[in-house]
Amino acid sequence: MSFDHRRDAKIRFETSDSVKVAANFEDMNLKDDLLRGIYAYNFEKPSAIQQRAIMPITSGRDVIAQAQSGTGKTATFAISMLQSIDTAVRETQALVLSPTRELATQIQSVVLALGDYMNVQCHACIGGTSVGEDIRKLDHGQHVVSGTPGRVFDMIRRRNLRTRNMRMLILDEADELLNLGFKDQIYDIYRHLPPSTQVVLLSATLPQDVLEMTSKFMNDPIRILVKRDELTLEGIKQFFVAVEQEEWKFDTLCDLYDTLTVTQAVIFVGKRQKVDWLTEKMREANFTVSSMHGEMPQKVRDEIMQEFRQGKSRVLITTDVWARGIDVQQVSLVINYDLPNNRELYIHRIGRSGRFGRKGVAINFVKLDDVKILRDIEQYYSTQIDEMPMNVGELI
Ligand code: ADP
Repeated sequence: MSFDHRRDAKIRFETSDSVKVAANFEDMNLKDDLLRGIYAYNFEKPSAIQQRAIMPITSGRDVIAQAQSGTGKTATFAISMLQSIDTAVRETQALVLSPTRELATQIQSVVLALGDYMNVQCHACIGGTSVGEDIRKLDHGQHVVSGTPGRVFDMIRRRNLRTRNMRMLILDEADELLNLGFKDQIYDIYRHLPPSTQVVLLSATLPQDVLEMTSKFMNDPIRILVKRDELTLEGIKQFFVAVEQEEWKFDTLCDLYDTLTVTQAVIFVGKRQKVDWLTEKMREANFTVSSMHGEMPQKVRDEIMQEFRQGKSRVLITTDVWARGIDVQQVSLVINYDLPNNRELYIHRIGRSGRFGRKGVAINFVKLDDVKILRDIEQYYSTQIDEMPMNVGELI
């Protein structure tokens, strides 16, 4: 399926005045071997955010780039980064940080794919993997490192990740990385980078407090922002199912199972233990499901991801570890078995479906006291969340 550029063109950005639009990849002054990689990856035309953000980033400016989920932010920074590094210098020149290991690994794959003709070395530096292997890879020399904050900082402290040649820091899912849980680690890393390091922030959600914080570590950034009433995608239909009590959610999910398996579906629950519980209960009822959460060993997480990406499993029960950034194009249905804890997570979760202009459906299970929360989300994003129709399967 190709991306609907007419719909994309309708998206309005609140951009800094100086931002120009490059309609094609050829208009971006990219290196030939990079352009080759882009076309070999089957990208024909840049998406709206790519048209606006790549050139400001490659010009060396600090950039804050917001765009709806699934509209190509990863390639935005991957292409910019590949354009900016010098592969003749076998030192780390660009560092991408993201909040989960799966996302860091996914980014590494995109960088390697787009940089296929550039001889680029890109390492995923993430927790839960062998430290010795990390050290070996880094000592070998990596142009780009894509990692999670804990392991990256560890490698910087040990001086295996050398920062002397670093010129670009990218914070993907920036609002999450600048949240309480990660903020100190990000500053620790930032302090070890050369003062001239260019900083690029990306996310679908960039709340005001995060934008205000950026003045502390960014230099006159170019801002490409989306108004919050334009943040939900038209292609993702949102519904709710009212349940009187928690127990009813399970029956509702069982009733929906045939719909879930039409393509692929992700079911979000609030807690890790609940992932295990629901998985068990679904299996007891003879439904095939897979599940993933952050307490599982990394090897198991990797296997589950691989199976789901290959379409070998179709229904994944998980936590917010999966809420941000993960790109599996075949996911067309998201179920919030439990509502997320904040408005931002709602956008990210439903954005696991409807990737790059595809159709998607999000279904929220709401208990009586959840109704207010859902109405608040609906109002905040000026969107519409209707009662789930009988024919919901036809919308996928
Ligand atoms: P975001 O980070 O904005 O959520 P991604 O970068 O993960 O979105 O991109 C979503 C999907 O769109 C990916 O599968 C990616 O390969 C695809 N994509 C991105 N840019 C283009 C493009 N210019 N042409 C075609 N497909 C694209």
